[in-house]
Amino acid sequence: MQKRYLLAPGPTQIPPEVLLKMAEPIIHHRNPMFETVVEEVRENLKYLFGTKNEVLIFSSSGTGAMEGAVTNMLSPGDKAIVVRSGKFGERWANICKAYGVEAINIDLPWGDVLDPGVIEKALKENPGVKAVYTQATETSTGTRFPTKEIAAIVKNYPDTLMVVDGITGVGVFALPMDEWGIDILVGGSQKALMLPPGLAFAGVSDKAWEFNKNSKIPKFYFNWAKELDNLKKNQTNFTPAISLIIGLRESLKMIKEEGLENVYKRSEILANATREGAMALGLKIFSRNPSPAVTAIYAPEGIDGQAIYKTLWKKYGVTGAGGQDQLKGKIFRLATLGYADKYDVITAVAAIEFTLKDLGYKFQMGAGVAKAVDCLKDL
Ligand SMILES: *Cc1c(COP(=O)(O)O)cnc(C)c1O
Repeated sequence: MQKRYLLAPGPTQIPPEVLLKMAEPIIHHRNPMFETVVEEVRENLKYLFGTKNEVLIFSSSGTGAMEGAVTNMLSPGDKAIVVRSGKFGERWANICKAYGVEAINIDLPWGDVLDPGVIEKALKENPGVKAVYTQATETSTGTRFPTKEIAAIVKNYPDTLMVVDGITGVGVFALPMDEWGIDILVGGSQKALMLPPGLAFAGVSDKAWEFNKNSKIPKFYFNWAKELDNLKKNQTNFTPAISLIIGLRESLKMIKEEGLENVYKRSEILANATREGAMALGLKIFSRNPSPAVTAIYAPEGIDGQAIYKTLWKKYGVTGAGGQDQLKGKIFRLATLGYADKYDVITAVAAIEFTLKDLGYKFQMGAGVAKAVDCLKDL
């Protein structure tokens, strides 16, 4: 027998309460029963995103809302600043390119600390930039970006939107949209929202809705103005992923019951214990500004990161993630977002120890687990 542990940065584990709700017989989406669900979900999404505005719900993976954050705001030929410091920053640049938006790329070495001053400089040097596209966490490197500081800069530019891919940020750490001046905050179901893949979210500021009026990129499925009209009637433009939205009602209820501050604290402590546990084994953390969502760990000298990732899941049942592109073979990643608790971290660190032992790495067996347990004692 092998028990499986899903500790990847998406999809993530799903609480049994949520799974059971989604297993109930399906209901019709043009029916008051479903409208009651949407009504509750709308309120709780506003709480999660820290906004008085509506948070749009799309039946797509997270990238659908990223794409919409370009196609619903900009026009062909517009300029946008994109922070490229990993896979997901590159995705913003690729979406811009696909729709004829000129991306001014800020290329930061993967895993480096993003200096908000660099954004300010780019804004000054490129008048007329319509949007700044960033990540809250760059999941491919496990790096957190200074969203609050960047938003404070962009706020001073009335003709520029602050857009944040918060797919591994929303529900992991605070990203209060209205307070910080984030114009678009994107989320996805399969990360901290404790659901299967299939829903994307976008909180949209009043400033962004003004941009929407002048946006000339063609749109059909992801038409945000139409979704807003429908959402206000507790409806969606097309047939939504009904079962996922029913699951969302439950997962948002769980988040609310725990309280956002406690959810954030839990992720912070779990990520810290993961890092400390790894370092106690002599391993190094990849990111210079690690995110509480996911920890990227360097493979030790002479050991292939892919071998670590593969041994973890094949032999020890722990599904983390490897490195992508230029980081393939160099790092492996373990997530601490969503439905994760202290035993997940202890399991992960123990599995790393078993794996490294198999791969011939020299270290003191148990040192990582001991350190992790110590870091988790107050959780
Ligand atoms: C997971 C993830 C995405 C979304 O990917 P999808 O596969 O489209 O859901 C986007 N950005 C970040 C930062 C992510 O972690």
